[in-house]
Amino acid sequence: MNQISNRLLKSFSLRSTPTRKEILHLFLKKDHALSHSDIESEIADDIDRVTVYRTLKTFTDRGLIHKVLDDGGGLKYALCTEACSATRHRHNHVHFKCTNCGQTNCLNVDIPGVRLPEGYIPKEVNLLIQGICQNCSL
Ligand SMILES: [Zn+2]
Ligand SMILES: [Zn+2]
Ligand SMILES: [Zn+2]
Repeated sequence: MNQISNRLLKSFSLRSTPTRKEILHLFLKKDHALSHSDIESEIADDIDRVTVYRTLKTFTDRGLIHKVLDDGGGLKYALCTEACSATRHRHNHVHFKCTNCGQTNCLNVDIPGVRLPEGYIPKEVNLLIQGICQNCSL
């Protein structure tokens, strides 16, 4: 895990700091999207809120993680699985929120194309499907 995170940070031109490594480990360890409070409850107590915010922003800006819009306007973050970079996030996948366990996952399913009326210019598309996840339904 240590090597993976070091390599990841390096490939995104990020200096390896204990906080960055710890937060990255958490994303590598969990297979679902994480909210601020999920992260805060899992990492060492001596890492303050502001540092967590700053780290998540840096990771998002660099293309290491992406925002996952949750229901009720909440925000979570998940690792980018495709070739994202500081200049562009490249994904168009569906997010799934389980109403049973509360976890939100990135699905390997593309958001279908939506035809908009003339004059509407889409900049960002988010699709959150709510229901029962694989872990809970099988
Ligand atoms: Zn991305
Ligand atoms: Zn579930
Ligand atoms: Zn995602």
